[in-house]
Amino acid sequence: MSESATLAVGAKAAAARARGHDVIAFATGEPDFDTPDNIKRVAIHALEKGMTKYAPTPGDKSARLAIAHKLTQENGIETSFEQVTVTAGAKHAIYMALQAIVEPGRMDEVLLPTPAWVSYKPLIELAGAKCVEIAGARENGFRITSAQLAAAITPKTVGIVWNSPSNPCGIAYPASEVRALCDVLIKHERITIISDEIYEKLIYPEISPGLAHLSPGSLAALASRTITVNGLSKSYAMTGWRVGYLAAPLAMAKEIIKLQGQMTNSIPSFFYPAIVEALSNSAASVEAMRITFAARAQLMHRELSSVPKFHTVAPNAAFYAFPDVSGYFGTVSPAGVTINSAQSFADALLNEAHVAVVPGEDFGACARGNIRLSFACSDENIINGIGRIRTWVAQLK
Ligand code: PLP
Repeated sequence: MSESATLAVGAKAAAARARGHDVIAFATGEPDFDTPDNIKRVAIHALEKGMTKYAPTPGDKSARLAIAHKLTQENGIETSFEQVTVTAGAKHAIYMALQAIVEPGRMDEVLLPTPAWVSYKPLIELAGAKCVEIAGARENGFRITSAQLAAAITPKTVGIVWNSPSNPCGIAYPASEVRALCDVLIKHERITIISDEIYEKLIYPEISPGLAHLSPGSLAALASRTITVNGLSKSYAMTGWRVGYLAAPLAMAKEIIKLQGQMTNSIPSFFYPAIVEALSNSAASVEAMRITFAARAQLMHRELSSVPKFHTVAPNAAFYAFPDVSGYFGTVSPAGVTINSAQSFADALLNEAHVAVVPGEDFGACARGNIRLSFACSDENIINGIGRIRTWVAQLK
């Protein structure tokens, strides 16, 4: 299977730094903030108290209750704690959700609106299904339409991986569009919705007035066939902790818990009180980070708009911009490299201008002309990094 493109760029940037280059990195999909202190303190206290033994496979009951409460109150997804499994990151939750719905050898198909996060397609294929991409047009802010969704469904479709707000697009679907897409899915009872809501709290109505998150699992007609995935990595600046979770219909949840029991068992037991602390006592920290990301989204878009031949959809969620740079395909770089793909653009940019971005190829067939830039970094990085890009593209012949 293919290596994660985002992790590969991170490694290349680290190697360039090790060679002594001053690299400006827009590659990593993680907040540059530290985990809020109150969350860290609760984990340290739990460790000191001796919470060092195995915990139940799906997690400690208090953490599962806190997650069920969050989903019920904040997302309108009626959830009992038995439906919740705490996982080693949202990534493992998505892996298990796909394993639960796909039957290998049955020629199952799973729909994937693209551009989409690099791991979805390999995970769909690993589960034994065909990944059917539905391309969101740049002109439509990368969002797919109901007509596109309806046209992609076949008798073999068993699921859809849904991700709003989106990595890599940096956009959230308006609630009205999510509802319209769900209306299509409601008519197809075989389809399970895996809704990855990891960027749910990073939405910027200051950029798109009225923008709000809608969870497909909150719609009564879909509740019994939606697996909602979320986690603490992005909103709480906890990527390295590896804390994700999913909530599934009860019968499916029981199967997923069996799978996790054979794979990883529980996450570290002293993290469970920290999950409760994050979900019940950290809203102000999350909001402070959200406000900073919203300002950076605007700065990033302003800077990218000043690069000739870049076409960028204004980000209004998550922490990514995803410009189309194909206007430079067919040119030659100052070091003599022919730029004929997003990959060659990104490689030459890193080698020659020491700016790390993720090439679009692995985000979907429709993303071959794009690069992803994370704005989970300082304003200074954004201004200097895009400045370097502007200078470098001016030399492409
Ligand atoms: N889902 C999306 C859309 C992501 O962008 C990422 C991380 O980049 C993940 C899931 C993985 O999250 P975690 O770190 O909790 O495994």
